[in-house]
Amino acid sequence: MALYDYKCDACGVSFERDHPMSAPPVKVCPECGAEKVRKILSTGGIQIGGSRSVSPPPAMPCGSGGCGGGMCGLG
Ligand SMILES: [Zn+2]
Repeated sequence: MALYDYKCDACGVSFERDHPMSAPPVKVCPECGAEKVRKILSTGGIQIGGSRSVSPPPAMPCGSGGCGGGMCGLG
C-alpha cells in the first residue's frame, strides 16, 4: 500500500488515499463528484532522516581543572 495525495481542481479539496500502486488512481472527487482530481506529490508516509540522539556533554571531574581549581569546595 502507498499513500497518495489528491487534489480536486473543481472544489479545491485535497485528500489522501492509500491504495496499491497497481490500483487505478482516484479520478472522482469525493466531495463534489467532479472528475477533476489530480494526483499531487505526496510526502506522506515517508520519513526523512532518522532519530537524532543527543549525548550529554562529558562530565568534568573535579581536580582536573573542570571546576576551576578547588572552587567547588570538594578539591
Ligand atoms: Zn471536488
